[in-house]
Amino acid sequence: MEREREHLIKPVLGRHYPAIAYGKGVFLYDDAGKKYLDASSGAVTASIGHGVQEIAEAMQEQAGKVSFVYRSQFTSEPAEQLAKKLSDLTPGGDYWSFFVNSGSEATETAMKIAIQHWQEQGRPSKHRIISRRMSYHGITLGALSMSGHVLRRRRFVPLLEDFPVVAPPYCYRCPLRQTPAACGLACADDLDAAVKRIGAEHIAAFIAEPIIGAAGGAVVPPDGYYEKIKAICERHEILFIADEVMTGIARTGEMFGMQHFGVEPDLIALGKGMSAGYTPMAAAMAKDHVMAPILQGSRSVMSGHTYSANPQSAAVSLAVLAYIDKHGLVQAAQNQGALLLERLRQLADRHVIIGDVRGEGLLTAIEFVADRQSKHPFPPELGVTNKIIDLAFQKGLLVYPAAGGVDGDGDAIIIAPPLTITDEELELLVGLLDETIREVTQELTA
Ligand code: PLP
Repeated sequence: MEREREHLIKPVLGRHYPAIAYGKGVFLYDDAGKKYLDASSGAVTASIGHGVQEIAEAMQEQAGKVSFVYRSQFTSEPAEQLAKKLSDLTPGGDYWSFFVNSGSEATETAMKIAIQHWQEQGRPSKHRIISRRMSYHGITLGALSMSGHVLRRRRFVPLLEDFPVVAPPYCYRCPLRQTPAACGLACADDLDAAVKRIGAEHIAAFIAEPIIGAAGGAVVPPDGYYEKIKAICERHEILFIADEVMTGIARTGEMFGMQHFGVEPDLIALGKGMSAGYTPMAAAMAKDHVMAPILQGSRSVMSGHTYSANPQSAAVSLAVLAYIDKHGLVQAAQNQGALLLERLRQLADRHVIIGDVRGEGLLTAIEFVADRQSKHPFPPELGVTNKIIDLAFQKGLLVYPAAGGVDGDGDAIIIAPPLTITDEELELLVGLLDETIREVTQELTA
């Protein structure tokens, strides 16, 4: 590929990025013929693997009929079917879907629906959203306002809404300096305290990732956390938005991450795995009772994008959901996730820089620390996460960076391969990771 004069803005300007040629299953191949094991499904997205023929066929079939209509003029069979299918996949049903193009738009639309829910009932002062430190809900300004991800916010702080944040359920290095055995879920109480401080009459919703992704690295909350959170939300008349952009659609071994905790959210944001990377597609889902005042009021959710609910993306997403069902990928995520966690824990026995191994299903992470006993992180200037990612990349292994630590002051990587990964591919993944961590440890301790 001719790339003497660059025109494409890439993540790091001036850095060489290999060009992709094609993908098949869990592997990607660049145009120089180098093979990569995609152990992160890209950005935790390509959950059914690359180059799946059924999806290409569904895409072509819909394109042969019609790819695009404007949602103010037409609805379409694929979009209607997809909204029904998603609702049917939730344990309780009765969700409406608003389709958008990215996870950021999904959380931002969920935020707007939540605010509108209260406006339509004559309660416009309920317009603030509480989120958590150590959270990421998207890059657009509304979504970033709801995010505690220090690094991604930094440049835009003056433009962001000053939404409150509360303590995350991060037991490995508890921000409230508690121990899991004795804490009484103080991190959930932090939400209650924030609501009391600010006044429930000013708060529309609380947003949380069921299992924290990019901002923490597969951080699974302790038992009882979400039950307590939901009870606090109900007591104060606050809607609960589950940001399932990373956890949703089979990734964690349940269709929705929140199913692990038996709590039903009022709103759900979906993205990534919803179309498994085959097309941009995301959704804000709202329960019947959230939509009721809007149906009885203005009858219109004040949002929308040109590509919202386009039949092409909806058809692709339906094909992805059918593929997940046909190949039993919810169960596969459970089985392969258990095997992966077991193997990663074995790595922890061998490498002193591994502080924590955690996750659920095939959303797993490793946090690296300078000292296992004190759990002290490495100095940021060492760039340990990047060292791991870069060396793994050289070896043909793709892993995803996560900001470890409550304020991004730690090192973690996410390992989240396609749900189709076989035992043999998984052993290859762990072998390459083992080599990578050993070499980085040698460099750090040299
Ligand atoms: N919410 C969560 C939990 C995410 O992990 C992400 C992306 O990583 C987003 C929202 C934003 O999604 P997108 O990058 O598709 O805008």
